[in-house]
Amino acid sequence: MLELDQVTVPNDLEAHWIPFTPNRHFKKHPRLVARAEGMWYTATDGRPILDATAGMWCCNVGHRHPRVVAAIQRQAAELDYAPPFQFGHPKSFELASRLADLFPGDLDYAFFTNSGSESVDTALKIALAYQRAIGQGTRTRLIGRERGYHGVGFGGISVGGMVNNRKWFGTLLTGVDHLPHTLDLERNAFSRGQPKHGAELADELERLIQLHDASTIAAVIVEPVAGSIGVYPPPVGYLERLREITAKHGILLIFDEVITGFGRLGKANACEYFGIVPDLVTLAKGLTAATVPMGAVMVRKPIYEAIVERSPAPEKTIELFHGYTYSAHPIACAAALAVLETYKEERLFERAAALAPIFEERLHSLAGKPHVIDIRNIGLMGAVELAPRPGRPTERAYDAMCDAFEHGLMIRVTGDTIALSPPLIATEADIARITDILGAVLDRLD
Ligand code: PLP
Repeated sequence: MLELDQVTVPNDLEAHWIPFTPNRHFKKHPRLVARAEGMWYTATDGRPILDATAGMWCCNVGHRHPRVVAAIQRQAAELDYAPPFQFGHPKSFELASRLADLFPGDLDYAFFTNSGSESVDTALKIALAYQRAIGQGTRTRLIGRERGYHGVGFGGISVGGMVNNRKWFGTLLTGVDHLPHTLDLERNAFSRGQPKHGAELADELERLIQLHDASTIAAVIVEPVAGSIGVYPPPVGYLERLREITAKHGILLIFDEVITGFGRLGKANACEYFGIVPDLVTLAKGLTAATVPMGAVMVRKPIYEAIVERSPAPEKTIELFHGYTYSAHPIACAAALAVLETYKEERLFERAAALAPIFEERLHSLAGKPHVIDIRNIGLMGAVELAPRPGRPTERAYDAMCDAFEHGLMIRVTGDTIALSPPLIATEADIARITDILGAVLDRLD
């Protein structure tokens, strides 16, 4: 019998219902990886696969970083678990302080979760609790954006705007509305960095305020750069305008930085990149570089103070009835601390910033390839949008992903868009190799 640690190739793929994957096709043509190191995966058949996606926008320090592996091993051998309600352990406090230092303004408090979806639901709940705490309990409405992705909890799919993630699941949260998305191929195709046109789309928030009245709206949530839909950098001036309008009307602004946090844009976070301080920020992915599941919500001081410090309840009473069994898990905290140290010591945010123009150049060199109708990029996030096959949307990009894997490259696809987000440790040569293989994939694609 095989020992558990020898199981590298499963003999039956049936029982695992794989998320966000065409199970029927995958189980006939599986793409399985067994090991990883640095920029590379190794497939179960021994082939090296270059990771152009940092796993899923998350393995920012590269795979199996020795410092992070050691921290996780040490922590597992020292303290496997501590209850996060009513008790604690020192590393979560250390981590919260370090995160507070990484975020601008008074985004000084961290609430720990285990995923991006949980961070989003947590942020929405904190927003509602805050409005109630300051005597604005009529503000229950939440505003998201078309084509936004905020994970798969009921809160996240309600404010999210990807139709397939919503239409199967009933009426979702009530009292939710959406801003228009910002993709405009007519005016902005093949933009480099932030597109020029579209800041006025933020004014749609004024229209929603006219419709619902500000006194009913608790918060607006957006990804500063829409990621999962296929990399939509915000139009120049758009986020600034959203910040202005929300502040004017007492509406909280939530940045969902699950992808943009931790160096993806060549800065610690999108707040710093765009020079905007939102009221809440959701995090996950790069927080532990995906080595251990973990998320967090960064919260501005006045929000914490209103709910916690100024709670009218007696001091021995819980202020916010929310949390998870694995909030601030010791092994996740140890991993996150090691990852933050790695970002700093290896200057990975600066490295990403230096690589971004090279990435942009190489990515846009694919512009003349067959079926390519747009290329977008910002920081180390890039997208190549393909014309869909008539009557069979998403199939062309899916085929590109399968072909790329056959030829030693892991890419991500969403709809008919190919998304790239290499680990921040990538070299110029890695970027060249990624775009070379992808170029050949596009040449072969029908
Ligand atoms: N929010 C954003 C912006 C994301 O990109 C994602 C995942 O890609 C999530 C939330 C959900 O994160 P998770 O899959 O960890 O729940």
